Amino acid sequence: MQTLPNPTTNRPLTDTTIHRRKTRPVKVGNITIGGGYPVVVQSMINEDTLDIDGSVAAIRRLHEIGCEIVRVTVPSMAHAKALAEIKQKLVATYQPVPLVADVHHNGMKIALEVAKHVDKVRINPGLYVFEKAKNTEYSQAEFDEIGDKIRETLEPLVVSLRDQGKAMRIGVNHGSLAERMLFTYGDTPKGMVESALEFIRICESLDFRNIVISLKASRVPVMVAAYRLMVQRMDELKMDYPLHLGVTEAGDGEYGRIKSTAGIAPLLADGIGDTIRVSITESPEKEIPVCYSILQALGLRKTMVEYVACPSCGRTLFNLEEVLHKVRDATKHLTGLDIAVMGCIVNGPGEMADADYGYVGKQPGFISLYRGREEIKKVPESEGVTELINLIKADDRWIDP
Ligand code: SF4
Repeated sequence: MQTLPNPTTNRPLTDTTIHRRKTRPVKVGNITIGGGYPVVVQSMINEDTLDIDGSVAAIRRLHEIGCEIVRVTVPSMAHAKALAEIKQKLVATYQPVPLVADVHHNGMKIALEVAKHVDKVRINPGLYVFEKAKNTEYSQAEFDEIGDKIRETLEPLVVSLRDQGKAMRIGVNHGSLAERMLFTYGDTPKGMVESALEFIRICESLDFRNIVISLKASRVPVMVAAYRLMVQRMDELKMDYPLHLGVTEAGDGEYGRIKSTAGIAPLLADGIGDTIRVSITESPEKEIPVCYSILQALGLRKTMVEYVACPSCGRTLFNLEEVLHKVRDATKHLTGLDIAVMGCIVNGPGEMADADYGYVGKQPGFISLYRGREEIKKVPESEGVTELINLIKADDRWIDP
């Protein structure tokens, strides 16, 4: 049977490997985004940056649980200067943490100050140069005139980051597109992409390429379309900038997590994306496990044990939920292993998805332990978890928690 290629990746539909888009490596402190490095996890503290000790503690809390790049907000010059102290306290009391500063409206002077203290500066093209609302179409001359003003404003920051070997994120947001982009291209993924390209071209003309691009939206289909279009345009233009993925204003709770995943995961599955942030309306520490779960589910990073478990049904021979909890409690520190817990031998062994070990209902009161697809032994259910641990120990794959 002939299989047609995946229309997005142009790879055979039978291909189960994620082929990540080739991007240039962009260094942010001691972390590299792109260039084939693992997808980087980032988040943002919500402390006021003027609260030095509070910010240092928040950055450290995030970094300790796996957030590899931490963003801080810099709404004023005082905040930008505070970053010098935050950075120095982090180094003195903990370790250097890759930091990104988010610069807001008309932020040129603030950006120049903060660029001295952080590893990456994030600017929003829609807000960087103030444009008075015009509410009519822009002539080419007017469009270009604002373009010149943007170049003039952006140049000192680009030169500063370039000369210090630091990075920039051109972070376009669907909700804050520049006026003239809105009138020229509409409130569309195309407008978002053109807005990013305008800033990229200025950077390139100054020989600065330590750039990461994001095109976030709160609507998943808009965000997904914008990133896909950006990739197509960059391919046409022979650009290889890494992409930062995220859904903005995703909300909280289960829906916020699902909405973020719905936007980020399809892109990653097509090989698009070098760093992710899950933005949920909860404490930033709650974002990190979601990022890791997305990456683990796609096989892009392995930060925990992968449990394969059936949903249970009328054939289930033990309390599956309870047993899964027990197995997880005993083995969750064995990062790298895949462990299956299946309710019966009818479908269980075949559906364990090549797990390293399997715990499968055999007959009432008994379970079977598997190594890969091989049945190793039948044991009373009451000894199941202990015997699973013994099997892993016998294979020399056990480590004490
Ligand atoms: S593995 Fe067995 S118990 Fe589990 S859902 Fe499938 S048939 Fe039911």
